Amino acid sequence: MNSKIKFFQSIHFKIALVFALMLILTLEVVGAVFVRQLERQNLSTFKQQIELPSYVDNSLSEQLVRTNTKSANKQISQILSDVNNSNITEIRVFDSKGVIRGTSNVNNQSIVGEKTTDENVKNAIYNNRSYNQNVYDDSNNTRYYVSAVPLLNTSSSNNNVVGVLYIKANLESVYANINSITLIYLSAALVAIILGLFMAIVISRAITRPIDEMKKQTIRIARGDFSGQVHVYGNDELGQLAGAVNNLSVRVEEAQDSTEAERRRLDGVLTHMSDGVLATDRRGNVTIINETAADLLSTTPDEVRSKSILDVLDIRKDYTIRELLDNQDEVIIDLSSGNRELILHAYFSLIQRESGFISGLVCVLHDITEQQKVDRDRKQFVSNVSHELRTPLTSVRSYVEALTDGAWEDPDVAPGFLKVVQDETDRMIRMINDLLSLSRMDSGTSKLDLEYVNLNELFNYILNRFDMILKNENEDESSKKYSIDRVFTKKDLWVEVDTDKFTQVVDNLMNNAVKYSPDGGVITARLLETHNHVILSISDQGLGIPRADIPHVFDRFFRVDKARSRKQGGTGLGLAISKEVINMLGGQIWVDSVEGRGSTFYISLPYVPYEGDEWDDDSQNSK
Ligand code: ADP
Repeated sequence: MNSKIKFFQSIHFKIALVFALMLILTLEVVGAVFVRQLERQNLSTFKQQIELPSYVDNSLSEQLVRTNTKSANKQISQILSDVNNSNITEIRVFDSKGVIRGTSNVNNQSIVGEKTTDENVKNAIYNNRSYNQNVYDDSNNTRYYVSAVPLLNTSSSNNNVVGVLYIKANLESVYANINSITLIYLSAALVAIILGLFMAIVISRAITRPIDEMKKQTIRIARGDFSGQVHVYGNDELGQLAGAVNNLSVRVEEAQDSTEAERRRLDGVLTHMSDGVLATDRRGNVTIINETAADLLSTTPDEVRSKSILDVLDIRKDYTIRELLDNQDEVIIDLSSGNRELILHAYFSLIQRESGFISGLVCVLHDITEQQKVDRDRKQFVSNVSHELRTPLTSVRSYVEALTDGAWEDPDVAPGFLKVVQDETDRMIRMINDLLSLSRMDSGTSKLDLEYVNLNELFNYILNRFDMILKNENEDESSKKYSIDRVFTKKDLWVEVDTDKFTQVVDNLMNNAVKYSPDGGVITARLLETHNHVILSISDQGLGIPRADIPHVFDRFFRVDKARSRKQGGTGLGLAISKEVINMLGGQIWVDSVEGRGSTFYISLPYVPYEGDEWDDDSQNSK
């Protein structure tokens, strides 16, 4: 756009050129007329100057009509020598027969008596008319004026031609005069042209400078630089144009600012939207994509720009752009792949101009993976609960039926049957209680009753209870034997916990360790601290958990071996509750297990060592 204008293409040059050409043309025309006029004027003056007085003509006519030629010639020569006119080069007198009767040229008297060959002279004699002519003499590069004037017989009344007066005059002086005047004129014209040219340059500069400034300003405006101002030189058309350009600059800047602000606002809105947004052109090629959409589609804006939205969303096999444009559907897109589950809800709408012209599509993507998962989990949960309750209820019913059918009378089986009914009912109550506490934690209505406790003491207290159970059971030969090893840090660890809930968690882990341990196994309980956590672990030498099941053991109702767990009165909710409790306490719970070798369950809780030290060792603080 901003190509450099060559000097010869510029208005500046064109104006100067037109100006100069007009000046030259005018001077040329005026000069031509003037020189021609000057020449004519000078020549006519010259002709008047070389005209001989009429008495000379008369005297010559008188001599020519005389019969005594000799004396007449003498007289003629005398008359001619009397003529004193410096402009005249030579005067010749011819009689009516064309014979030279005299010449003013003293050196050429010998031609007297010769007959003329000059056409002008002959014509003057025959036609009784004057002839004159400018002739150029090559021999001495001189221009001459020659005239042949008939001489008339004045004495007789019939006025017949008696001879011709031939005058030859040198014109060089006339032309020298004309030339010198022409030269003066030409020099004046040259000076005028130079001055004119100079003025043309100055004037055209005055015109083109504001134009040039405006051009530069408009280029700056186009580049987005609105800082400049065109100088307004006056109130003429150019001045007004300059004013208009300045005004335009302000308007464009305002417009640009508001578009920019609008764009930034839109950008901001798009960037901070939690939904993904894609916009396409009419052919369905992506023009705008926000970060959220790029993240959801695990791509980058640059990668998808100008690709078809059908490919970007991977819906080419189900939809065409026309279908999306015609009925802006809501589409569920399943982009799950391998280990990543991703379900998107895509809502399409049209970008339409006021005129109704459709210029593209907007697609809003909403990640509904979590929602779908929650839905699925809820359904799964309901089905699990129904299933879990149906099994004990079915067995209770069959035992109750057997009892009603008469087994109650049989003292051998009745107590056994009633024991099963009682156990199953207990288990159902436990399960319902577990479900209730889970539901309370889910809904956030379960409140923590936090207090600082010495974790070493608390853990030890819980383990002591298990030792007691073991001692009591040991009297019963059939029950399982195990021992508990304690590996505790010496330091007292004061941690803020809800004692009841924490005890429930440790109980649960210990129960599991006992449940899934072999007879005579060793259960190791450890307690240690890192610089801002306490870590509590319970290891057993039991069955262990298959590697594939490890991620699921904290899921509700998950059991590695359903039948076995149920037989031992498990609900499959213990670890799920433990996890919820530990999370509420701000800690973490995880498991490390090798199938067939045993499992270790870990709990870590946040711990601030300084406060513990304050209670333990006052001397440290008094430093
Ligand atoms: P349950 O009531 O069945 O014990 P939990 O939620 O306490 O339910 O445990 C879930 C499942 O995790 C158990 O069914 C069992 O398969 C497995 N599990 C828990 N603790 C252990 C352990 N110490 N050793 C082996 N497997 C275990």
